[in-house]
Amino acid sequence: MSAKEKGMLIVISGPAGSGKGTVVKLLREMIPELGFSVSATTRAPRPGEEDGVQYYFMSRDDFEEALTRGEILEHTVYCGNYYGTPKAEAERVLNAGQDLILEIETDGAMQIKRLYPEAVTVMLIPPDADTLEARLRGRGTETDDVIRTRLNRAREEIALSGKYDYIVVNEDNGADRCAADIAGILKAEHHRPCRMHGVTDNFFN
Ligand code: 5GP
Repeated sequence: MSAKEKGMLIVISGPAGSGKGTVVKLLREMIPELGFSVSATTRAPRPGEEDGVQYYFMSRDDFEEALTRGEILEHTVYCGNYYGTPKAEAERVLNAGQDLILEIETDGAMQIKRLYPEAVTVMLIPPDADTLEARLRGRGTETDDVIRTRLNRAREEIALSGKYDYIVVNEDNGADRCAADIAGILKAEHHRPCRMHGVTDNFFN
């Protein structure tokens, strides 16, 4: 199968406080045929998380072995834990011609863009620094230190926005609008000549 017949690879990044989880959930409801890859991580499951659903939860040894065997498409260390996209699953979806969305942080996003320059990358950001801080504080469960670390990490991620193909701003109560905007971006991307396989062929036969 030629590269052109493969599904479109879509990367969505967004720091804590961007509302990425909600937006991606809405987007997947809007476009049910969108393939989704379950990542592998060495972080502990949070209450309610199930192995193979939110993540494949792995030991550090197993993750490092998978890395050595070349089974991980991209990976990073985030807050002391490994996160990575299993290669086989991603390739299976793309090779079947299905679009695939990866919800990953900036480091992984840049690795994907190097491996797949045709991937469509979207950065979701909060509208301003005050809103970002209010959202992080709003959870009410973290200490000042943790909030400061998360704010700094968020700023580092936002600083890389310019390397993405698209930036989408998530205003308060803006998740529906953002999901619709991203759906619009994906629709437009499908109309690029490189993805309109063979539509002009019969004019020249
Ligand atoms: P969390 O621990 O909150 O579920 O995720 C922490 C961060 O890791 C989020 O920004 C999330 O998008 C990112 N992440 C999740 N899976 C992957 C992955 O497979 N690769 C990379 N590079 N980042 C990931």
